[in-house]
Amino acid sequence: MAETFDDFKFNRQILNAIADAGYTQPTPIQQKAIPPILNGQDVMGIAQTGTGKTAAYVLPLLMKLKYAQGENPRALIVSPTRELAMQIEENIRTFAANTDLRTVVLYGGLGPKTQIEQVNKGVDIIVATPGRFLDIYIAGHIVTKQLQTLVLDEADKMMDMGFMPQINRILEVVPVKRQNLLFSATMSDKVHSLAGNFLEFPTVIEVTPQATAAETVEQQLYQVPNIKTKINLLKTLLDKEDDIKKLIIFCKTRVVAEDVFKFLARKFGEAEVKVLHANKGQNTRINSINSFKNDEVKILVATDVASRGIDVSDVSHVINFDVPVVIEDYVHRIGRTGRAYNKGVAITFATPSEQYYLNKIQKLIRQIIPVLEIPAEVFIEETPYQERQDQAREIDLQKRKEDPDFKGAFHEKKSANQHKKFDAEKAKRNPNHPSNKKPSKQNGGAKRSGRKR
Ligand code: AMP
Repeated sequence: MAETFDDFKFNRQILNAIADAGYTQPTPIQQKAIPPILNGQDVMGIAQTGTGKTAAYVLPLLMKLKYAQGENPRALIVSPTRELAMQIEENIRTFAANTDLRTVVLYGGLGPKTQIEQVNKGVDIIVATPGRFLDIYIAGHIVTKQLQTLVLDEADKMMDMGFMPQINRILEVVPVKRQNLLFSATMSDKVHSLAGNFLEFPTVIEVTPQATAAETVEQQLYQVPNIKTKINLLKTLLDKEDDIKKLIIFCKTRVVAEDVFKFLARKFGEAEVKVLHANKGQNTRINSINSFKNDEVKILVATDVASRGIDVSDVSHVINFDVPVVIEDYVHRIGRTGRAYNKGVAITFATPSEQYYLNKIQKLIRQIIPVLEIPAEVFIEETPYQERQDQAREIDLQKRKEDPDFKGAFHEKKSANQHKKFDAEKAKRNPNHPSNKKPSKQNGGAKRSGRKR
């Protein structure tokens, strides 16, 4: 199986674009799907978003198309939603950056004029939602006879959304001789029967659904009011937990990752901790991973983007300094532990504005993550005005996502209450800032001192 992207027969333009995107290793779906797609076979991939399934078909597709040719599309990618269509196009743009391939994305919700103009200029790849593709096709602007590859992405979602008649119509208007690729998050009976009609002797590839949190991982949650308190908690856990042998700290952005790294480098020394994010050069990233893999450093601070596809799984502890916004990343993150060290521990820090994603994660993994009390010696910081505002805005946005009619303001009360709770907690604590005292080792680790609420 291909360990690196160099193992595939990609050309230089594509390999350079992959390196520029910061991908170091193909993900399992990429390892399995790219070779048969390059070979021209029909492929059915059962993989969820977050597994790298888009690049799994986009990369070989670009390799086959190579450069701009003629006026008419040679590949059609059908997506259930405009958002996914845009994401796919972004992927194509990234990987086709060193080629002159032309991509047009077609979706509804706005007038077709500009999209038609783009198609008329000549196009190699069309990414489209089913209805809009057919509208523009029926209006006579798309010539399908050069189509060689048809991709149906998130096929299960398309069927759930009632797009089956449009899909069937599309199948009628594309050439019979073509390569078909079908991706779906689930393998339902409907998907199975679509595959039967659509694919010829397909290679079926399934990657284990990510939404199963390993049983060997003990999950813990701390609810904290703000970033500074997260840092205080991190410090205490590192002081108290003797069994942290190999730790990855996940952060949501490279800015947070840099801050956490700087804090740890001051505490333990630059040589003891490494940081990994997409802004670091390729060599720096590889060096960081290798020194962590070889146990030269005990702590790696990383963002999800930088760590995806990197095979470091024998860690004793994972700390989610931030709750991942791409909720599938939670499972991916905690899966790094609980392997070589029989039992792993995954600790998550969550502020009030992160509760929203936490709820979604708990639904996804079908588990409630046990909440531990913040150890007494952790100093609970006041939430600075700006951070309080940011949190309130974030909670507003989340509410609006759930309910587009939501007008705002009522979160203020809720988050103010939450802050009051933290303030009361703070007042309860020893006024002479116990966080300044060195916590005694005999106190036991957070896990042991943790009382479930
Ligand atoms: P997808 O499942 O296609 O939606 O991809 C999920 C995320 O993983 C996207 O942000 C991709 O950019 C990223 N990704 C895909 N493949 C890789 C890889 N081999 N290495 C690192 N990141 C990747």
